[in-house]
Amino acid sequence: MMPKSKFLEVECPECGNKQVVFGSSSTEVKCSKCNFMLVAPKGGKSAVKGKIVKVLT
Ligand SMILES: [Zn+2]
Repeated sequence: MMPKSKFLEVECPECGNKQVVFGSSSTEVKCSKCNFMLVAPKGGKSAVKGKIVKVLT
């Protein structure tokens, strides 16, 4: 399951930091603490690498 066009709360698998990212972002999003790439752009969509904690609607 890959939610699109929503804000997601993602937990960094490296350091446990949680941050809100936009699910359909076409830019990469890195963890604000450890720089782990939480969201990687992929063919116009985004691939969320972190653990999705919550989907914010
Ligand atoms: Zn991190």
